Amino acid sequence: MTHTNDDCIFCKIVKGDIPGAKVYEDENVLAFFDISQVTKGHTLVIPKNHEENVFELKEETAKQLFSAVPKVANALKEAFEPIGLNVLNNNGKEAGQSVFHYHLHLIPRYGKGDGFG
Ligand code: 5GP
Ligand code: ZN
Repeated sequence: MTHTNDDCIFCKIVKGDIPGAKVYEDENVLAFFDISQVTKGHTLVIPKNHEENVFELKEETAKQLFSAVPKVANALKEAFEPIGLNVLNNNGKEAGQSVFHYHLHLIPRYGKGDGFG
């Protein structure tokens, strides 16, 4: 059963209480565009289950999440035709985490001057 947290913005997107532009969805995983696009197509991939960060992430959840990543990456490749893609994850406030529901950033790259890194 999916565990959600009433105070969590990403759980609200999972539940459909606030909108999120969906890129991919299956039983356990949701991908949606980041509200602040660092490059065109910047996407967040999250488990539907509320797990705060990598230190809390269950092995089963990690398997479900990472099995969706190539699908999401290829959907972004097809849609946006990037020349590369970063997969990033911040864990803990000091490491730059601002939403405490585990998520991967998929950041399509377009070469020098694409605005990231
Ligand atoms: P973090 O800093 O925790 O690694 O990344 C959190 C990300 O969530 C940020 O890039 C931020 O733009 C994104 N974000 C925060 N609130 C919302 C929201 O309500 N909707 C969407 N789509 N993205 C959000
Ligand atoms: Zn959550």
